Amino acid sequence: MSLFEYAPAPESRSIVDIAPSYGLFIDGEFGEAKDTFKTINPADEQVLSEVALAGPEDVDRAVAAARRAFESWSALPGSERAKYLFRIARILQERSRELAVLESLDNGKPIKESRDVDLPLVAAHFFYYAGWADKLKYAGLGPDPRPLGVAGQVIPWNFPLLMLAWKIAPALAAGNTVVLKPAETTPLSALFFADICRQAELPPGVVNIVTGAGDTGRYLVEHPDVNKVAFTGSTEVGRQIARSVAGTGKKLTLELGGKAANIVFDDAPIDQAVEGIVNGIFFNQGHVCCAGSRLLVQESIATELLDSLKRRMATLRVGDPLDKNTDVGAINSAAQLARITELSEIGASEGAERWSPPCELPARGFWFAPTIFTGVTQAHRIAREEIFGPVLSVLTFRTPAEAIEKANNTPYGLSAGIWSEKGSRILAVADKLRAGVVWANTFNKFDPTSPFGGYKESGYGREGGRHGLEAYLA
Ligand code: NAD
Repeated sequence: MSLFEYAPAPESRSIVDIAPSYGLFIDGEFGEAKDTFKTINPADEQVLSEVALAGPEDVDRAVAAARRAFESWSALPGSERAKYLFRIARILQERSRELAVLESLDNGKPIKESRDVDLPLVAAHFFYYAGWADKLKYAGLGPDPRPLGVAGQVIPWNFPLLMLAWKIAPALAAGNTVVLKPAETTPLSALFFADICRQAELPPGVVNIVTGAGDTGRYLVEHPDVNKVAFTGSTEVGRQIARSVAGTGKKLTLELGGKAANIVFDDAPIDQAVEGIVNGIFFNQGHVCCAGSRLLVQESIATELLDSLKRRMATLRVGDPLDKNTDVGAINSAAQLARITELSEIGASEGAERWSPPCELPARGFWFAPTIFTGVTQAHRIAREEIFGPVLSVLTFRTPAEAIEKANNTPYGLSAGIWSEKGSRILAVADKLRAGVVWANTFNKFDPTSPFGGYKESGYGREGGRHGLEAYLA
């Protein structure tokens, strides 16, 4: 097979102007904090900017600002709140090229994903919830649903701006005010969003952004004047938060990890399934909570499917996130790379067979070649633990019943995929999968109108759609 050679097609770095330092965004103003930390570009380890590290007093000020703003924001007619949200959505669209470059620089994701997936979805979320702001009494939550108050929101680094949109858009539409803490390795797009709030003339204090690491997140979720906690991140931290919030009367939603099964039956269209498998595990370097990280393939087609998958993987271009041809970008941090490396080594030492296409990785930055493990059994750690990287574990099955049993044999329950030509089989299997989202003959499809969330250790509560309003209304 001959591969196309591609000349580099880098998006211009100068589209975004990153300041040397950023403060905390509280009460509509950027202000300093005592401490700072650096955020780097994971593709070359260069420092992008220095960012404020919020301490307990800073979080206190942010929550107080949100509390003051709540009075008037919650009293506005929904149609007025909607105008702000529509304005934010339009500014996000206008500035999408700049934000896409910024997101790829700070996160390491390929520009074609930040440009064609993250940013359009971010704007779509604000448009969608803007539409709900004056229709809350038709959301099925009673004749006069009320906002909860101040929402403390903590998000991860894999989709920094998209997770912000999932959190902030429904909260504001419902009349709450927010204090949001982005992840420590990807704080920049939230700070640019703060600037968009100013551009949209959002009243001061309605949105506050506090940057920092785990401690800052903890001050926020444990703050006594926060009424609602929304967290997306690891199951381990989610558990700690559930314990700290228990008995306080705060409302809580948790979006946690996953270990999704992507199930391919013998009647599936193989080429289409291969595309779905690749999208399921190599999209965003596999840093996706709903990634299809366990491939369950029917034994009779396993050889054919795996040959085809390997051929396809050999065409994936790994490298510069800003190159428009790049399929797989940089791993977000040294810590995440260490975790992926460790679990992959465990996979090999436990007896699974490891394969990666030949690919040259850049010398600087954090990189991991797309990898598959075959001969994986359910006892292997790589079949049970979330790797959160471009690593696929392949298991086989003989009957639909066996596929369902293996798919559900996980502490998680966020998503799943089914590939089959038969609609009846798809419906019958989907019905038995314990997963919040089940995709059929597709994978990783997102839409603001559709609720997303997990079962079991993948968390509770739903984000997106009408269901997403429920978390922010009493
Ligand atoms: P993480 O839990 O370490 O961090 C998530 C966020 O929580 C960060 O902002 C971090 O600073 C903050 N944090 C850390 N300790 C905290 C504490 N004690 N109190 C409050 N906040 C704290 O997770 P991560 O490594 O950033 O993200 C990867 C994980 O997120 C994966 O497990 C992935 O599956 C999950 N995730 C889930 C979804 C979903 O929607 N279900 C989406 C994206 C990521």
